[in-house]
Amino acid sequence: MPKPNSYRPFQPDPAQLALKPDVSGNDINGLGEETPRRPRMVYWAPDPDTIPHGRMQRWFYKVNPDHPALNRARAQRAEMASEPVPDVTGEPLQRAPEEWNAALDAFAPDGGFDMWGVAEIDPLWVYEGQTVSQSRIVVLGFAHDYDEIATAPEPAAGAEVVKQYGRAMKAAKRVAGWLHLQGWDAEPLTGPMTSKVMMIPPAIACGFGELGKHGSIINPEFGSSFRLSAVLTDAPFAPTPKRSFNVDSFCESCRICEHACPPEAIAPDKQTVRGVEKWYVDFDRCLPFFNQTFGCAICISACPWSRPGVGFNLAAKLAKRAAREPSAA
Ligand code: SF4
Ligand code: SF4
Repeated sequence: MPKPNSYRPFQPDPAQLALKPDVSGNDINGLGEETPRRPRMVYWAPDPDTIPHGRMQRWFYKVNPDHPALNRARAQRAEMASEPVPDVTGEPLQRAPEEWNAALDAFAPDGGFDMWGVAEIDPLWVYEGQTVSQSRIVVLGFAHDYDEIATAPEPAAGAEVVKQYGRAMKAAKRVAGWLHLQGWDAEPLTGPMTSKVMMIPPAIACGFGELGKHGSIINPEFGSSFRLSAVLTDAPFAPTPKRSFNVDSFCESCRICEHACPPEAIAPDKQTVRGVEKWYVDFDRCLPFFNQTFGCAICISACPWSRPGVGFNLAAKLAKRAAREPSAA
C-alpha cells in the first residue's frame, strides 16, 4: 500500500480556476489524436496573450512567495538573458562530423553543460507557425542539485529549477557564440519559455534517455532530475545514438509518481498523442497544482531514478534481467 498523499485532495485556488480557459490543454496537445502532426504551444508562451492558458501563466508569477533563493535565481536568469552572443565571424571552419563532436565535448567545461547530444531536425518537433532552417539540434543537459529538488513542492525546489534554466540559457548562448566564432550560424533555444522546437523528443533521439511515466526523460546519470536547452545549427555534427536502459519496462510496473502526484495527473497507461503511443501527464490536472507550488517537481523528486547513485544500479539490474528474459526488455 502506498503512503497516503498528504496533498490530496487538492483544491485549486478559486482565483486561479477563474482564469481557466474553455479549451482543454490536452486537446491542444493532441491527446487521443491518431494522426501525427506538429505540436501547438500550450504553455510558457513568450507572449501569454497568444495562448488560451495565458492568464494562468501570468498567475504563476503572481504567487511568487518572495522566497530569497527564487528571487535570486530569477534575477540571475534575467541577467544571463541580456548577455550578448558574439557575431558570426569569418568563413565556416571545416571539420569532420566526429571532430565537431569531439570539439564540443572538449568545450563542455567552458560551456557549462553536464550532458550533450546531437540530432538531425525532425519537422514534427517544430511548433506550428515556426520555421527551422537548420539541419541539426545540439541538446544540452543541466543536472539539478538533488537535495534542493527533493524539497518539492517547496519554493526551494522551484528556485533550483529556475537556477538550472539560468545555467541552461547561459550554456546555450555560449555554445552558439562558440560556433559563431568558428564561422557557423547558430541559434540558442532556452526554456522555460516555449521556443521553436520541443526539447524532449530531440533529447530522447540524441541519447539523453527514455520518456518516463511522469513525462520527463530518465537516464542513469541524472535520473529525471535535469533541465534542457538547445542550439540549432548547420555545423555538421554527427548525430549521437538513442540510448535505452529498460526504463520503459520499469515504469510499466512502478507507480511511485502516480501515487505521489497530488492532482492524480499521471496516467497509469500510455496514451495516444498526435499519432504516438506514449506516457502522458494530464495537462489540465497538473497545471493548477504546478502553478500553486512554484513548479511542483514532486514527480521528478519522487522518481527512484533521480536519487543520486541509484540510476546506474537500476540500469545494471534491468540489463541483467533483460539478458535473462529477452521478452522483459
Ligand atoms: S508536476 Fe504535475 S504531474 Fe508532476 S507531481 Fe506535480 S502536479 Fe503531478
Ligand atoms: S516514479 Fe516510477 S513510474 Fe514514475 S517515472 Fe519514475 S520509474 Fe517511472
